[in-house]
Amino acid sequence: MADTSQPARVRFAPSPTGRLHLGSARTALYNYLLARRTGGQFILRIEDTDFKRTVEGAEDELLAGLRWLGLQWDEGPDVGGPCGPYRQSERKEIYLKYARQLVERGRAYPCFCTPERLARVRQEQLKRKESLHYDGTCRNIPPEAAARRVADGEQHVIRFKAPQEGTTTVHDLLRGDITVDNRNLDDAILVKSTGWALYHLAAIVDDHEMGITHVFRSSEWLGTFPLHALIVRALGWAEPTWVHLSVFLKPGGKGKMSKRDAERARDDGYSIFIKDLEALGYIPEGILNWIVLMGWGTAENDEMSLDEMIARFDLAHLNPAPAAVDFKKLDHFNGLHIRRLSVDDLAARMKPFFIEAGYPVDDDKLRQIAPLLQPRLKTLRDAPIVGGVFFEETVSPNPEELIGKKMTAPDSAEAARRAVSILSGLTEITHETAEPPMRALAGELGLKAGQLFGILRVAVTGRKVSPPLFETMEIIGRDEVLRRVEQAVALLESLDS
Ligand code: GLU
Repeated sequence: MADTSQPARVRFAPSPTGRLHLGSARTALYNYLLARRTGGQFILRIEDTDFKRTVEGAEDELLAGLRWLGLQWDEGPDVGGPCGPYRQSERKEIYLKYARQLVERGRAYPCFCTPERLARVRQEQLKRKESLHYDGTCRNIPPEAAARRVADGEQHVIRFKAPQEGTTTVHDLLRGDITVDNRNLDDAILVKSTGWALYHLAAIVDDHEMGITHVFRSSEWLGTFPLHALIVRALGWAEPTWVHLSVFLKPGGKGKMSKRDAERARDDGYSIFIKDLEALGYIPEGILNWIVLMGWGTAENDEMSLDEMIARFDLAHLNPAPAAVDFKKLDHFNGLHIRRLSVDDLAARMKPFFIEAGYPVDDDKLRQIAPLLQPRLKTLRDAPIVGGVFFEETVSPNPEELIGKKMTAPDSAEAARRAVSILSGLTEITHETAEPPMRALAGELGLKAGQLFGILRVAVTGRKVSPPLFETMEIIGRDEVLRRVEQAVALLESLDS
């Protein structure tokens, strides 16, 4: 088991080629937790040398998403640090230095094969149904001759000289030893003809130069993991603890999560992208609790704040078993964490959602209604749906909906009229002052309380579903409540005629 008694130096190393999604956010979270748990450092490194695939705005979204989740890094391109620059596009020379070192040690070599020749080799291998690999032509060029051709400016890439015999064993923290037959290794390109290092070299060099102790990354890297370990060893460095995280399965638990599943999630009102989840009214606390458990073997459904996660985080709990993306669980955790917020905090977080829904919000009112809404929200986006009523100056109930259950319009009008006469005798309408006389009235009229309350609910809120009736009345205020119930009487009478 990896030693966590020492401060860990860990890094999240996104490429600005895509958006921050559940998988990358979970990788960032585990990095963050280990750093905080051990009193170490969490480093953000931008792996941006795949210029063709770089997406405009992706880096900003990645950084904003991490910050929004509360996963602040200690070192990174924007905050600096002792091992900068933290952007690979600014580290070209560092990679070249080590590439040359590998060539000098006979562990890498310049390859002058043209793209046309490589395409031909590929075709032939395909025809022979062989696995695709470099055929090793330039591996055998004598080093002096190769060096001369490089000095003469001949176009070339630098390839790793993979061992061709025996086996290589690498160790993943979650999966144990993995042994591969060296005959299956390829002489991977480390540096392109443009002079830019590829991930295989750049990430290894950076992890070493930045003193990284644990590498958390997606299991998509398991295939090239032996190559990476071999490069570390060829450079004579100590290997970090490698942790390839579990894959995500479709919501149903069968098969890997695909792009198409991600799109389908959106049709169902969910998303795998952090920024979308924010817009959908999910809060960082809910999202983090949900994703931390995807790959955390023992915590099952535990409710945890970020601080609680830090206190409990242990590498021994991580699990390589695939984790299903269950959005119902996200709703569950989001609701739980909304209920944990203070009234002021909830009020502030609901505000943009009321504004977006077009309500003229005011802060005092938001604080007043927050406790009423709090137990009823799965997402912040529910807030204007449940609580919009408090910002409406008038309501226009559908007259048909004002008719009490199993009642006629005239009976309903009469019940509402009696309610007005009782409520107008109160100096204040609160849960305490209004509920008992309304219950008594229902009894007197031979109605169930729910029948009368249903009429009053539609009258006062314009909706069949609302927060608790009498608390709602209290916030709307006596005069407006009376006006609305009177309006309901008139509407019911108009049905009558
Ligand atoms: N830039 C790589 C990616 O986005 C990082 C992999 C790693 O963490 O080493 O997949």
